Amino acid sequence: MNILVVDDNKFIREVVSAMIIDNGHAAIKADGHKQALDELKKDTIDLVLMDIEMPEVNGFELTIMMREEHPQWFPIIFLSSNDSEEYLTKGIDAGADDYLTKPVKQVILSAKIRAMERIANMSGALARANKQLEILSSIDPLTQILNRRGLEEVLANAWQVNERQKGELSILMVDIDFFKPYNDNYGHPQGDKCLKQVSDSLSETLNRSTDSLARYGGEEFIVVLPFTPKDGARFKAKELISSLLRKKIKHEYSSVLPYVTISIGIATKCAADNIVNATELIKNADIALYQAKEQGRNGYQTFITDV
Ligand SMILES: [Mg+2]
Repeated sequence: MNILVVDDNKFIREVVSAMIIDNGHAAIKADGHKQALDELKKDTIDLVLMDIEMPEVNGFELTIMMREEHPQWFPIIFLSSNDSEEYLTKGIDAGADDYLTKPVKQVILSAKIRAMERIANMSGALARANKQLEILSSIDPLTQILNRRGLEEVLANAWQVNERQKGELSILMVDIDFFKPYNDNYGHPQGDKCLKQVSDSLSETLNRSTDSLARYGGEEFIVVLPFTPKDGARFKAKELISSLLRKKIKHEYSSVLPYVTISIGIATKCAADNIVNATELIKNADIALYQAKEQGRNGYQTFITDV
């Protein structure tokens, strides 16, 4: 571990640091709040040993400052020659995790460091698990692409960037044609397989790193195409339709073709029109998708604004 020793007394700093090194850890020394806060900014400190009696900013105040500036938890142990209950309580309330009285015995310090190391490891594992959970909660388990929640985040982001840069943002709403008869006749497990095949085909065809694909619900997908005008979006829609068709996924219950096909609705936000938010853009794509369905499926339609 990297252990930060904060003490205004050089002698104590050196003695405590020597003990830390003896225990196989690295000691980083700070003579007060300025050096201590600078060291913490590097984000490499695992544990802090903190003196209480210091000029300018004392240990209680410095602990409060550290906890405010650094949301990520690391253990802080107080070192003080004052062993009163009031000091102990005040230290814990300020955000410290343990309290040691000076002079510090090597064996006690080693044990405390081991205990804090254990807690720090658990806390790290928990933070990693939470991060993983956050990623998982925005992924659709079947298709392994973004789910609706993930889409909302991506789209909100793309919308903001587009507003700032006055670009053109297109979205495609993609729907599998005659998916209900597919499911009814081939069964749900095969239906799931079909969803995965379509999703794979869509993501293979989207080759720009800025493009995103999400499962919007059921057999509906949404493609987010930042910096893409209507023409570009039409070109992409055409590609998505034809690359899926080339896979020739059997569908004997479709009235269009004996294969699985998709219909696509396109909506574009450009500087000239007055679409107010991403939700309206999705609504427009949905209207265009309805028109594509009306016009025989296996094709795309673009939403035309009144402006
Ligand atoms: Mg002191």
